[in-house]
Amino acid sequence: MSLSRVVVALGGNAMTGPDGSARPDDQRSALTAAMEHVADLVAGGTEVVLTHGNGPQVGNLLVKNELAADVVPPVTLDWCGAQTQATIGFTIADALESALARRGRPRPVSAVVTRTLVDPADPAFDHPAKPVGRYLPEREAARFAALGQDWADFGARGWRRVVPSPQPREILDAPAVRALLAAGVVPVAAGGGGVPVVRDASGTLQGVQAVLDKDRTAALLACVLSAEVLVVATDVNCAVLDYGTDRARPIGRISAGELRGYLAAGHFAEGSMGPKVEAAVRFVEAGGRRAVITGLDGVAAGSAGQAGTVVEP
Ligand code: ADP
Ligand code: MG
Repeated sequence: MSLSRVVVALGGNAMTGPDGSARPDDQRSALTAAMEHVADLVAGGTEVVLTHGNGPQVGNLLVKNELAADVVPPVTLDWCGAQTQATIGFTIADALESALARRGRPRPVSAVVTRTLVDPADPAFDHPAKPVGRYLPEREAARFAALGQDWADFGARGWRRVVPSPQPREILDAPAVRALLAAGVVPVAAGGGGVPVVRDASGTLQGVQAVLDKDRTAALLACVLSAEVLVVATDVNCAVLDYGTDRARPIGRISAGELRGYLAAGHFAEGSMGPKVEAAVRFVEAGGRRAVITGLDGVAAGSAGQAGTVVEP
């Protein structure tokens, strides 16, 4: 039997402290702990592709940009995305290679700076809605708005920059990911959903001022790599119906169709559990064998359908 191929999408808790702290040491120790669980899966003989979020890391780069704008030129969001893919990617590589070596199953791990094609006509570009970076008082926000950025009023907490979050259309570096898999390397790819790029009429690629949802891109990545399983690893053990109420019920095994109904009924918060459920449903509807939403410690068992919310056709 051929190896089963599993795409594992790591959420914020895999790379920041429990309170969201993102000092370098917090990021390194969170990733080191997360890679123990991923190493169990790899050492068990599964062909794994890793992807990850980058929200807090990009947020921190934007604050540096803002504070240093008078001294060094601010860099654009696509550059922030690429930079975080590199730093998170090499940290994952170090941690996972060590964890595999300790298990007597050494394997190379390598990160691909991954570009994701988006459609310049995506409606998200007309309605920048994804908040990034920190809250600022109105007067300071106005300074950046004057430079062409979109800022929105979030009430008592202040103003925050908002950017488009278009749909990922194509993972342009998928061939490099396939080549790494064929060479026995564990790839880390499409971090932060990939660096968003558009293609102009002449075929030239250009980075755009947008962010991608890592759960959406993870579903696309799992589809284009013909993975059997997509695991979305986050800080809760499963998706929950009537979350946060006294009628809360954890979801175990469920069909994609039934879960789509709960998604439409508004059981999953936008911007957190919503995109994970959507990714899981999309992947299974597109022919995936199984999608799983689970905690980091459920990655190996979840891949086998033994933990978390297990979505099957
Ligand atoms: P990640 O960084 O892994 O993408 P998010 O914070 O975006 O994590 O999403 C996970 C969070 O979603 C959980 O911590 C939980 O608070 C929240 N959440 C919202 N709705 C639900 C739900 N219906 N079931 C479970 N968790 C939910
Ligand atoms: Mg999230």
